[in-house]
Amino acid sequence: MGLIVQKFGGTSVANAERLRNVAQIIAETRRMGNQVVAVLSAQGDTTDDLIDKAKEINPKASRREMDMLLSTGEQISCSLCAMALESMGVPVVSLTGWQAGVQTNSAYSSARVKKIRTERIQSELDRNNVVIVTGFQGINKFGDVTTLGRGGSDTSAVALAAALKADLCQIYTDVEGVYTADPRYVTGAKKLEEITFDEMLELASLGAQVLHNRSVEMAKKFRVNLEVLSSFAKKPGTKVKEVAKRMEKTLISGVAKDKNVARLALVEVEDKPGIAYQVFSLLGKENINVDIILQSIGRDGTQDISFTVRRDDADQAKKLLEEYKGTLGFDHIDVDKGVVKVSIVGAGMLDNAGIAASMFGALYDADINIQMISTSEIKVSVLLDESDGNAAVQAIHDKFFGE
Ligand code: ASP
Ligand code: MG
Repeated sequence: MGLIVQKFGGTSVANAERLRNVAQIIAETRRMGNQVVAVLSAQGDTTDDLIDKAKEINPKASRREMDMLLSTGEQISCSLCAMALESMGVPVVSLTGWQAGVQTNSAYSSARVKKIRTERIQSELDRNNVVIVTGFQGINKFGDVTTLGRGGSDTSAVALAAALKADLCQIYTDVEGVYTADPRYVTGAKKLEEITFDEMLELASLGAQVLHNRSVEMAKKFRVNLEVLSSFAKKPGTKVKEVAKRMEKTLISGVAKDKNVARLALVEVEDKPGIAYQVFSLLGKENINVDIILQSIGRDGTQDISFTVRRDDADQAKKLLEEYKGTLGFDHIDVDKGVVKVSIVGAGMLDNAGIAASMFGALYDADINIQMISTSEIKVSVLLDESDGNAAVQAIHDKFFGE
């Protein structure tokens, strides 16, 4: 018995049949003696469709009005789900973000949760109701509706779980959990029983699209026990927690591939103090995140600086640096958008030497060339030619998880 927050994503609530299925899961959880707060996303492609509708009217609509519009998607799924529970005789109430006391800052379209006033939810739970709360939205100090950014319902669920001190926050989705690699193209990919917050954070930011990465940050900060599981299959999912059990004999948790990356190289930059500082402050000011950096050894008074950015930022980064060509004194900028970043993640790296070497060995055996390397405490990333991406993930996966 306890308080469980259950979040259901867009595919899980896409139509009447699936909403009834979600209502069943909620009812079953309650029947087991738990209190349930359910957080729902908008049905299927609703949010995208609403964005298209707005574009037809005014492609430059203000963010405030966009939030007013987009927040309606979640109201639809929540009220419908409440109706499904009513029809099953389960006492239920659905609440919008503001009714549920979700207070955010005023950054329309990417608001952050500041505080949740839980009185209303608490009193509904005390009355024995299942409480269904719209994901993705809150209210700011002006009393306006805000949204938390695409995929924000995960964050709503974790924030509610933290505020209500829930015993568990279950994220129901269309995959069965977190895998050692993307099962759609990697043979032998296995579902993980458990994973740590830090590993999940790395994987989430490396493009494993199971959890919104802000929700993982928040879960780590407030120690909310998470579980990722499928709303379609009745199977245990993956638990995300502070310390995780290791699968037998495996040194890493997963292999991830991120295609949203491009490599820029400033060729023949003057070799003098302050250049790296200038380059990366310029990019930082424009909010362009730099990932892997490689600075070559100087020769004849010049050096090359290569780095990676998100692929969608590559053109802007090039343009920006070219404006400062005179001050920075480089010869030209080389941009390569045909690259991919492949990474291994695992808390096991902290106390096992040689993991990076095994990864490089797997790539060598597969005759794949590495362009750049970066490491952190629990991650090793390599930059490769995009056409090598899938083969690289498979080779590395075989090395660490093969028989
Ligand atoms: N409905 C919103 C979106 O599609 C929020 C979410 O699904 O988490 O981005
Ligand atoms: Mg969605």
